[in-house]
Amino acid sequence: MSNYLEAVKIINKSKNIYIASHISPDGDNIGSILGLYMGLKKIKNDVNIIKVDEVPDYLNFLENIDKIKDYDGREVDLFIALDCADIDRLGLGKEIALNSKYILNLDHHKSNTEYGDLNIIDPKASATCEMVYYLLKSLDIELDKEISEALYVGISTDTGSFMYDSTDYETHLIASHLLSYNIDLAKINVNLYQSKTMSQALLHIKALDTVRFYGGGKIATIKVTQSILGKANAKMEEAEGLVEFIRSIDIVEVAILLKEKAENEIKVSCRSKTYVDVSAAMKEFGGGGHIRAAGVTLNTSIDQAEDLLIKSLEKVI
Ligand code: AMP
Ligand code: MN
Ligand code: MN
Repeated sequence: MSNYLEAVKIINKSKNIYIASHISPDGDNIGSILGLYMGLKKIKNDVNIIKVDEVPDYLNFLENIDKIKDYDGREVDLFIALDCADIDRLGLGKEIALNSKYILNLDHHKSNTEYGDLNIIDPKASATCEMVYYLLKSLDIELDKEISEALYVGISTDTGSFMYDSTDYETHLIASHLLSYNIDLAKINVNLYQSKTMSQALLHIKALDTVRFYGGGKIATIKVTQSILGKANAKMEEAEGLVEFIRSIDIVEVAILLKEKAENEIKVSCRSKTYVDVSAAMKEFGGGGHIRAAGVTLNTSIDQAEDLLIKSLEKVI
């Protein structure tokens, strides 16, 4: 708790606060940003959110999503990075962070590089939203329905709906407390898990044609190329869910999604089921993440990326 109290001191004395998202923001990132923003707004006037990348459509239902805005260029007293393992993942926020007076880095990635002036890193937390919950508690800020919905979204998405190993007693205690604010679970669940667009469904159908198996079926890969995106008339963010789907095949331990963002820019999402540490595997290539969910960007062709990853992962399955 001591680190949280240090954060409380800094928040209290900061004249302005800027919270930034990471590139390719996910439910935990946006949920933690909005939860903290709404909480801090109860005690501070000058709280802002910096947009560093597009927010995926499935999170647009969250309250105050419109407060995620382009940076206004003012001098920053306190810069808060949430759910962001290294400073490069802040994208255009990196420069703003480095020019700010103070960086608070609050995150649950064990690969976090501790780039802040104050680093609160808790790899046991299932989501950064759990940590924001504790921070708001330390600040004596009363939760409400909207804050609870934002935090719940982060916990639900980062735990794979409370299924991953990271889910524990505390995760459920926090979720239970959030539910006591009468959050609209049906709205959240439909938006997060039952709102696939036709283009997304088509993308998934086409991508499934690219699935390949290695290591006797313990490793599965799936690819989303620019050509497939074009055929499905879909956006890359609509690949969400594919890697979890191929991991769900009974014999698969490691699932790899390769997204061709551009030629020689391959964003890799890696997931394991029960024993492979994919964070360590991705670190080998300069990426990182969690034991069962990690990623990296490789500057090779999509087929070369697949070869490199398979060679490395075949050694650990
Ligand atoms: P993703 O596959 O993008 O959903 O990411 C899975 C997890 O790995 C997330 O917690 C990310 O923050 C982390 N991650 C993804 N890409 C990288 C990267 N290039 N470097 C460090 N961590 C990453
Ligand atoms: Mn994230
Ligand atoms: Mn997270």
